[in-house]
Amino acid sequence: MERISNAVAGERRLSSSSRSSQVFNPATGEQIAELPLSTVDEVNEAVASAKAAAKEWGQMPPLKRSRYMFKFKELLDANINDIAREISREHGKTHDDALGEIARGIEVVEFACGIPHLLKGEFSRNVGPQVDTYSDRQALGVVAGITPFNFPAMVPLWMYPIAIAAGNTFVLKPSERDPSAPMLIWDLFKKAGFPDGVLNVVHGDKEAVDTLLDHPDVKAISFVGSTPIAEYVYSRGTAKGKRVQALGGAKNHMIVMPDADMNKVADALMGAGYGSAGERCMAISMAVPVGEETADRLVETLKPRVESLRIGPSTDSDADMGPVITKAHQEKVMGYIDSGVAQGAELVVDGRNFNLQGYENGYFVGGTLFDRVTSDMTIYKEEIFGPVLSVLRAKDYDEAVDLINKHEYGNGTAIFTRDGDAARSFANDIEVGMVGVNVPIPVPVAYHSFGGWKRSLFGDHSIYGPEGIRFYTRLKTVTTRWPEGIKDGAVFNFQNLE
Ligand code: NAD
Repeated sequence: MERISNAVAGERRLSSSSRSSQVFNPATGEQIAELPLSTVDEVNEAVASAKAAAKEWGQMPPLKRSRYMFKFKELLDANINDIAREISREHGKTHDDALGEIARGIEVVEFACGIPHLLKGEFSRNVGPQVDTYSDRQALGVVAGITPFNFPAMVPLWMYPIAIAAGNTFVLKPSERDPSAPMLIWDLFKKAGFPDGVLNVVHGDKEAVDTLLDHPDVKAISFVGSTPIAEYVYSRGTAKGKRVQALGGAKNHMIVMPDADMNKVADALMGAGYGSAGERCMAISMAVPVGEETADRLVETLKPRVESLRIGPSTDSDADMGPVITKAHQEKVMGYIDSGVAQGAELVVDGRNFNLQGYENGYFVGGTLFDRVTSDMTIYKEEIFGPVLSVLRAKDYDEAVDLINKHEYGNGTAIFTRDGDAARSFANDIEVGMVGVNVPIPVPVAYHSFGGWKRSLFGDHSIYGPEGIRFYTRLKTVTTRWPEGIKDGAVFNFQNLE
């Protein structure tokens, strides 16, 4: 059985931990690797390696750091298919979906290549007699990232390219579920020629995370994962005086106005609801049609599409979606479907009995569609993170908006309409961080920033883009006065400098 190593001080190192977790192929249910859970000492070594590299790396001209990033980007492009296969094997998502995830990660590397420009500061001449002021941003030192299973390549790439280009060194703690893609990407990072210790990867669980949160040399933590853990990471990290951005879970609604093109709406909902088996923090899990007639048309249009979803392993190039991540998660999603039925929602398409010949031990859940869901039901309140789309019928636009604004999560949302006024009001009034107008999954491009509101983000900064630069740097403002110069010309006698 393969044992997955860490990457510390420029080399792959196998952990000597006595604790480990198992990595599965979710399409077959077979164990494919063993993941040692790093000890406190091993995490400390990773931080020490990052610290040893930090000074020289931080002092290097940004243009030189950017050249390493260019090389890294070229290697990611050249190896994109191998990385995608690694993601699919451990995560279960389709090959095309894995390619899409890496492409969005590479965009952040491209953004980070512009670091000389991004770090430029401000200058004011003559703020007083012979006094000038300038301010710019400097790296923090050692920073760390803790990432979730659902985007094993993209989410780490949301973090370290920007942190490192800005002059920091990094310790990454990836998800235990699919740790191989981050390691393959680390190999490419090393091949790009970055100095040893600039990027370190340690695998582990709560013990490793707590060690990073408490370590005095780690100056900032980026976390992406479920809301309870995000909240925990935020409070423990900030209590230790660190800068923390902790992105959490979601429950994303899409309002369907009566004037929307129903075929386009259904296509958008199929991709946003069932793509990646619903395991995306920007997945749409709630469709909110406005008016009974809109709702009837929506459910009628969706039902045959959900029934004919093609579900399979990532090796099936025609599959629309794959399995969910673990056996436990499969059972959890099934439990949510049971609870929806028990609490009175109308089960239009039932994915509980889905079976795939030859993959009977895989963690598959069939596409599921609920109608007449209400806001007091568990399947409305909680994040399911599976291929379950629910329809909640709103009587009018105001009720739909009110519903979204009252939900505890505020990651993403969308409206489908042909009415510019409704779209504009929605973008203005909705209490959600990322908004789509006729765009179902409004994940911002790399040169904007990603982040939700309410219990979808703890901390003051969104991730990547300009907010990423701010998060990984701190402002320094220098005021200078040069009262006397030597501009009177050459002086040949010995000078008293006072
Ligand atoms: P998770 O919270 O279980 O794990 C995330 C990370 O936290 C992992 O690295 C894990 O090892 C670590 N962790 C787990 N338990 C811990 C504990 N008790 N103490 C400290 N660290 C711990 O999340 P997941 O299941 O891997 O990912 C799915 C969740 O992530 C969903 O809720 C999804 O919405 C969310 N997510 C959010 C975003 C976003 O941008 N807001 C993006 C992707 C995923």
